[in-house]
Amino acid sequence: MRIGHGFDVHRLVIGRKLILGGVDIEYERGLDGHSDADVVAHALTDALLGALGAGDIGRHFPDTDPRYKGIDSLLLLAEVQKLIEEQGYLLSNADITIICQQPRLAPYLAAMQHNLARCCRAAPRAINIKATTTEHMGYTGRGEGIAAHAVVLLRSDYGSK
Ligand code: MG
Repeated sequence: MRIGHGFDVHRLVIGRKLILGGVDIEYERGLDGHSDADVVAHALTDALLGALGAGDIGRHFPDTDPRYKGIDSLLLLAEVQKLIEEQGYLLSNADITIICQQPRLAPYLAAMQHNLARCCRAAPRAINIKATTTEHMGYTGRGEGIAAHAVVLLRSDYGSK
């Protein structure tokens, strides 16, 4: 088994779409970034790369590379899933916490769970997603950005095929 952790944060700005876990969320601002700035997908991708001992998302998909401008981050997650399979692992489970004061994310969590599970070729119940506020404290509490943490466990796929 191999464990990994990922953390990401992006700034909330006017004039961008808000995309979390591949779900388009209705809000007056969105996350700024080179890609679609999906912090949830990025935290999970970094956790998976961490578990593989394969560095981080910036090393695999540099934000200086025009190929990744505006890209759907679920595509990056699916690329990393290929690496996991090539190296003989499967996702056992992931636990993700989104730190966001506004908007309320509860109605979108199931759709995010399904998107991420599909990319990781796992059952939806293998992906747990929680959302919390920081009670108006700190940068997330002031609505300056949205952050996400992810922890994952990979297991060897030996004997599962
Ligand atoms: Mg990011």
